[in-house]
Amino acid sequence: MNIPFLSFSGMHDPLKTELSKVFEKVYDSHWYIMGNNLKEFEKNYSIYSKTKYSIGVANGLDALIISLKALNIGPGDEVIVPSNTYIASWLSVSYTGAIPVPVEPIEATFNINPDLIESAITNKTKAIMPVHLFGQACEMDKIMTIAKKHNLFVVEDNAQSQGARCNNKLTGSFGNINATSFYPGKNLGALGDAGAITTNSDELYSKSNVIRNYGSEKKYYNEVKGINSRLDELQAAILDVKLLHLNEWNSERVELAAKYNQVLSEISELTLPLLSPNCTHVYHLYVIRTKERDALQAYLAKHGIGTLIHYPIPPHLQKAYAEMNFKEGQFPIAEKIANTSLSLPLYPGLKHSELEFVAGTIRSFFKK
Ligand SMILES: *Cc1c(COP(=O)(O)O)cnc(C)c1O
Repeated sequence: MNIPFLSFSGMHDPLKTELSKVFEKVYDSHWYIMGNNLKEFEKNYSIYSKTKYSIGVANGLDALIISLKALNIGPGDEVIVPSNTYIASWLSVSYTGAIPVPVEPIEATFNINPDLIESAITNKTKAIMPVHLFGQACEMDKIMTIAKKHNLFVVEDNAQSQGARCNNKLTGSFGNINATSFYPGKNLGALGDAGAITTNSDELYSKSNVIRNYGSEKKYYNEVKGINSRLDELQAAILDVKLLHLNEWNSERVELAAKYNQVLSEISELTLPLLSPNCTHVYHLYVIRTKERDALQAYLAKHGIGTLIHYPIPPHLQKAYAEMNFKEGQFPIAEKIANTSLSLPLYPGLKHSELEFVAGTIRSFFKK
């Protein structure tokens, strides 16, 4: 058997005819940027997110940067970020000129530990950026309480978690302004790069709407020094079709994760993903942990099973952040996660027989 880490077949094959028609529709319209397909998708994504507005942008990193810029965050400011995240969360802060201030995760859930946030707050702190990592909602009730108490903004990084909830409220609808990514492999993915901002604020909507398009609302009248980060018509139209299937795909991911939990639970050498109370998980990634990670990954590869490591090096130890002089051991939980975690194949269309084969191969590795 050959089981890739990720396959789009289960999601895209049934939609091939429909997506081809979408291509023809946009092709024939002769209108490729900032048109009706974008407006329609923005409307539908805001309905999905239960936020007043959604703003399509070029990718998830830009969605984060524009969100921070709309809040006037920049040089001299600090933003609290998880020590355990994809580097994009940190980079967005750095690109505004502000400083990312890392806070360690809860080891069992991988997400930022709300109980450690207050000790990282200084008089320069402007915002908290919770990242709903691997698809699980952060403990947003606690985070929002801390933000309110200290008068801080909240910018959610919702790139991996469209459809997840905390206390029955959707991720991407808690913060002042929030960002998501439609990178192809995300739970809702375009056929290329794409992203979006969600907000309930009229003011932050207007600001980010203008920032993403050269700082102009009216063509050739530039109010601020914006950037070019537009979501094109073709990707918007494709996303609009795929959005209708997001909930059913997420349910399938949840089902597959439950199956993994069941068949892997007897393997004592493994730590399986856990949920925080009142939080749901949409399993963008199914991440297990073991001290024998590297050997297990090699063994699975030998048996035709693709896996990935999210992420092998935490941001504070990346060369890109050498100037901040972080030391190895400074964020030990993030480092431990980086050294022990392994993401297994999980995507809509993965067959139960394939999942059983992955589990059986893991079992045989630990029996050796
Ligand atoms: C994917 C991702 C991003 C960035 O999204 P892009 O569309 O690749 O720019 C940001 N944060 C997290 C947590 C991500 O997983």
